[in-house]
Amino acid sequence: MLAAIQHDLADLSDLALDDGVVFARKHFAREHRAGSELRRPGIELHADVDINTMEASTPSQPESCNILRVKKRVETPQQRWARKNRDKLAAACRRWRKRHPDKQKAATYRWRKRNLKKWNAYQRLWRRRNKDRTNPLLRAFRAANKEALNEKRRRYRALNLKMMRAAARTYYQDNFERKRAEHDAAIARRKLAAGRYTVAEWRELLRKWRYRCAYCQRRLTRKTATADHLIALSRGGTNWIGNIVPACLSCNQRKSFLGRSEYLKRLRKLRNLSNRMAERAYQ
Ligand SMILES: [Zn+2]
Repeated sequence: MLAAIQHDLADLSDLALDDGVVFARKHFAREHRAGSELRRPGIELHADVDINTMEASTPSQPESCNILRVKKRVETPQQRWARKNRDKLAAACRRWRKRHPDKQKAATYRWRKRNLKKWNAYQRLWRRRNKDRTNPLLRAFRAANKEALNEKRRRYRALNLKMMRAAARTYYQDNFERKRAEHDAAIARRKLAAGRYTVAEWRELLRKWRYRCAYCQRRLTRKTATADHLIALSRGGTNWIGNIVPACLSCNQRKSFLGRSEYLKRLRKLRNLSNRMAERAYQ
């Protein structure tokens, strides 16, 4: 741009220097106000153009800038007053609401209707934050309407059986580890054994065992790994994570109620047997 100005200045050789400065100044200011031009460093200005007198190079302006300047939002006098007198405005609003309860109510309902999503989200948030207030009410409601609610659930289930089964299947596929943990906890409860483990604990255990069966070292995946109780539940073991190791399904089933060393002994015997059988078949 400046090069262009300089070029213009050179062309206007018949203009007096002062005129040239005035011209350049106007040009430069206009271009800079448009805000889209990058003022590149390294372009020499005309020797007589004093950059400090230019509007565009006052210190408050950025040295180089190709960003369109954002138009400042203009405040109306009313908005200005409201910003500076928040308390007064709030008090006035309160007075108005007190004087016009019907209008206020109608306005509230209108707003809720227009902003149903926001209103519902707010209510959800409120209920979550005030659980100790809502939960007893909910529980009382459920207790008072137990039969009706059960009937409603049964009807819904009968109407949407297919969909619900599909949803349950998808949920199981997405949360099979959690479901299995719940299943194990339920079995432990039935066998009067204490303990439950979380999915996080189970995954940590798998990592610790490097995804291998604790008995036969077979490679496991999250899908194929099963939780085996070191001390069987029937022998007084618990369902806490400390009593659990990952095992392949066949080890888990063959081990049954045996202890770890007992089962390993048996496993070695089985292996020797199968090795000998293999050798015999080879000879
Ligand atoms: Zn195994």
